[in-house]
Amino acid sequence: MFEYAPAPESRDIVDIRPSYGLFVNGEWVDPLGDERDKTVNPATEEVLAEFAVASDADVDRAVSAARKAYESVWAQLPGRERAKYLFRIARIIQERARELAVLESLDNGKPIRESRDVDLPLVAAHFFYYAGWADKLGYAGFGPAPKPLGVAAQVIPWNFPLLMLAWKIAPALACGNTVVLKPAETTPLTALAFAEICRQADLPPGVVNIVTGAGATGQALVNHPDVNKVAFTGSTEVGRLIARSVAGTGKKLTLELGGKAANIVFDDAALDQAVEGIVNGIFFNQGHVCCAGSRLLVQESIADELLAALKRRLSTLRLGDPLDKNTDIGAINSAAQLAKIRELSEAGEQEGAERWSPSCPIPDRGYWFPPTVFTGVAQSHRIAREEIFGPVLSVLTFRTPAEAVEKANNTPYGLSAGVWTEKGSRILWMADKLRAGVVWANTFNRFDPTSPFGGYKESGYGREGGRHGLEAYLDV
Ligand code: NAP
Ligand code: MG
Repeated sequence: MFEYAPAPESRDIVDIRPSYGLFVNGEWVDPLGDERDKTVNPATEEVLAEFAVASDADVDRAVSAARKAYESVWAQLPGRERAKYLFRIARIIQERARELAVLESLDNGKPIRESRDVDLPLVAAHFFYYAGWADKLGYAGFGPAPKPLGVAAQVIPWNFPLLMLAWKIAPALACGNTVVLKPAETTPLTALAFAEICRQADLPPGVVNIVTGAGATGQALVNHPDVNKVAFTGSTEVGRLIARSVAGTGKKLTLELGGKAANIVFDDAALDQAVEGIVNGIFFNQGHVCCAGSRLLVQESIADELLAALKRRLSTLRLGDPLDKNTDIGAINSAAQLAKIRELSEAGEQEGAERWSPSCPIPDRGYWFPPTVFTGVAQSHRIAREEIFGPVLSVLTFRTPAEAVEKANNTPYGLSAGVWTEKGSRILWMADKLRAGVVWANTFNRFDPTSPFGGYKESGYGREGGRHGLEAYLDV
């Protein structure tokens, strides 16, 4: 057998401070309260750093700084001047990409191959893309001189910490808003590094403020009376709470929530490509992806052949040290998420589905879950209905295109879907009928800043990315 030698990326390139304050008005400040929390490396359970938990009063300070910067500086600047700052930030991100990729993998557990080749290039691309819009807003289709909204409150999850920050901050600043952003409690480090980048870019104080903390900090931020816009990415459950608390306040709201996407493979598809697409669909980022292809719908006549090929492929995946460049599957982000994945997988077995994983050694420390496939899944099973947010694939079969559509749409979510077939006419027919914000054809989990992304039904509302993504940050 061919053996791999270890190929670890060095962590010496990152400089993690033992303890972080809040980033308010362009300065590091101590929180007003004394509550602090720790963030760990999920691959080793080692504590990486301590961070401040922002109280209501701290959030108030950050919102005031953002308001002042909005009124006195940022909304006054012509678009071409705002663009210069965004281009500068994009270039600094590219220059520091290796450092940021290592930091992201340390704090989140994702393989360095993904943080280096997917997350960081996309983060820079989002800033470049929206920098280009800043002086062209009058041509975006929202009237000749669309106005910004004011202060944006932004709350993001832990699965793509820096990328979700970029999706939120880049369009907000391009449109002339200022922001207060709260990263997830398990992954604050790249947002705190981004605060340093704002200083390096000489961004005027208060345009970007970063407040760390858990759910209560997020709640204080979205409920603050002086914010004009709330942007949230996370669970449908918290999204519902936020929609309720924002209702009637006049705050503009976008919600990017969960998903349970169908990845649909027809009998005429190129099978080897489909197998790669299935693996990328559900095992990319340990399945911690809102648009993950967590339900494989395969045409019955090719199900055995496809599953055999998929299992062969999964047996070659390497699970382990996220900083090793050969690693395919990294660590689960937190003990809580691991418990949720275990609970749902056990429910899958109890409800009668058949569970399979390749034999794969699991490290002694840290949070890990092997790639897992369930066959014999019925639509009523919890593993076919609930978002697992882990490396777990549920396989169902279908006979006709109409049945595929019906099963794919049989979910409260509607974020994404994938279609694998040789026939262009069938792709278009399917895309028209699938109730999902994004439909990929003969590919999966492809992202591009020029393309709008968002959901139907319980996957949320509003779009991020592309020209459509500007609308969320303009008074239109
Ligand atoms: P979550 O609990 O909803 O957390 C998301 C963010 O909201 C975190 O920063 C969280 O803080 C904060 N938060 C928690 N309670 C809050 C409240 N009452 N008010 C305001 N903010 C609050 O989600 P999660 O369990 O961490 O993340 C996984 C979920 O996110 C999955 O269900 C996935 O589908 C979804 N997700 C969706 C997308 C998308 O684009 N649609 C992308 C990524 C993830 P703390 O975590 O610090 O407590
Ligand atoms: Mg959470």
